[in-house]
Parts: sequence; structure tokens; C-alpha cells
Amino acid sequence: MVWQRNVVVKSAEEIEIMQEAGRINALALDAARQMIRPGVTTAKLDKAAEEIIRDHGAAPTFKGYPGAYPYPATLTISVNEALVHGIPGKYELQPGDIVSIDCGTTYNGFIGDSAFTAGVGEISEPARQLLDTTERALYVGIEQMHSGKRIGDISAAIQQYAEGHGYHVPREYSGHGVGRQMHEAPQVPNYGRAGRGLVLRPGITLAIEPMLLVGTFRTRVLPDQWTVVSADGSLTAHFEHTVAVTENGPLILTPSEKVVDGR
Ligand code: MG
Ligand code: MG
Repeated sequence: MVWQRNVVVKSAEEIEIMQEAGRINALALDAARQMIRPGVTTAKLDKAAEEIIRDHGAAPTFKGYPGAYPYPATLTISVNEALVHGIPGKYELQPGDIVSIDCGTTYNGFIGDSAFTAGVGEISEPARQLLDTTERALYVGIEQMHSGKRIGDISAAIQQYAEGHGYHVPREYSGHGVGRQMHEAPQVPNYGRAGRGLVLRPGITLAIEPMLLVGTFRTRVLPDQWTVVSADGSLTAHFEHTVAVTENGPLILTPSEKVVDGR
């Protein structure tokens, strides 16, 4: 069903399928997470995630995604100053790196999209604070996802939390509606004004994805035409869940076992 502004509202049955897509996506991300260590190539993480997705009868959503050229991998792996859309390859993770891993899974026609950032071995205290703040910003945004609230409430909550802790949020990269398409209406910017934008109602499914930068809100794209980095080379982090608005509040469709165990 189409709600206002081309936003597709999902039925309970469709949300159940998205939950299965999200579960598989979380398994793929957990497989990659468990392999993070100094010396492992980002290509190895990508291969492990793709195997999990295909073993569950699903498909990697990112592979072939249109851009300057079709996206060539299952994961995006973005290290240190790389914010999003880094391409896995020969790079070997180094002690002290922070690595952002994003994954999409298409199952039975519906998509789960989620991401996390983790340290490689021991990381600096500023890096740890960036990771913790970005992950908390994700939940600060999700907590706004109640029927009757607006998209701007999510955006403003994320921006205020991030900037209140001294970080910056990008202007060019946003959360988004998600369902049969990875990027559906509406956009969910990481900045904005409370009380503005689309009114939320049960059945709306959104990818909430705060991206925080240490030194600037400005970004640039590397010559590979995919990798987005902070313009000043400062550290960045990214966390994401696919979340449904329900009668009972927000329902995270992409919980990882790690998160479930921690609660
Ligand atoms: Mg994503
Ligand atoms: Mg997304």
C-alpha cells in the first residue's frame, strides 16, 4: 500500500519476510565480524558473508547495484577515514583500524540492510568513543520510530546526539525507506528539524543509519568512484538497522546475535 509521498507501507506478512531477510543479513555480518583480526583481507570477509547469504537461499543486494559501474561485492568495507561504500579487496586489516561493514540481503523479494563498525585489535580511546557514540546515535534515532512521529524527529535526534558529542554528520548520505527496493522513499537524513517531514505509521520500514565523522561533515569520493571518505582524513563510523514502525513501537528487523545477547 502506498502512503503519502510514495512511501510503501508493508503488511504484517511482508514485514515477516523482511524479518527473515534481516535475520540472514545479520548472520552474514556476524560471520564477517568474527573474522576481523590483523592481517585478514577485506576480500575474505566479503566471501564469508556472501556464502552465508547464498546458503540461506538469499542474494547479496549490493552486488551489481548501479553506480559509476555495478557494485562488485557483497559487503561494503570502509576502513578508518572511509565512511561508506568501500570495496573489499587485498587490503589487510591493521591493528588499531576501525572497520565499517555494511550488508544487504534480498530474500523472497524483500531486503534487509544493516551495518556496524568495529575495532581491529586494540584501538585508540578517541576511536572507541566514536564507535560508542555512533552506535548510541543509531538507537537514539530508532527510539523516535513511533506511529505519529515524523521523519524529522529521527533526523533531529541523530544530529543533536552526534553534534552534542562533538561529531559531524554528512549531508550527502542518508538513511532511507527499504522493502522490495534497497532505497525507497522517504530519505532519512542524519540531520534535520523535529516536527518536519512524513508522519510515521505502522508498516513503514526504514533503514536508520547514523554516520559520524570526527573532523568535518564534508566528504569526497575516491577515484574508485565508490569509496566515500571524510574530506579531512579524520576517522568515521557507521551503524545501521532496518526497522519497522509497529503498533507497539519500533521493531528492529536486522538484530545481530551479539546485540540480542547483550540485552
Ligand atoms: Mg546499509
Ligand atoms: Mg542503508
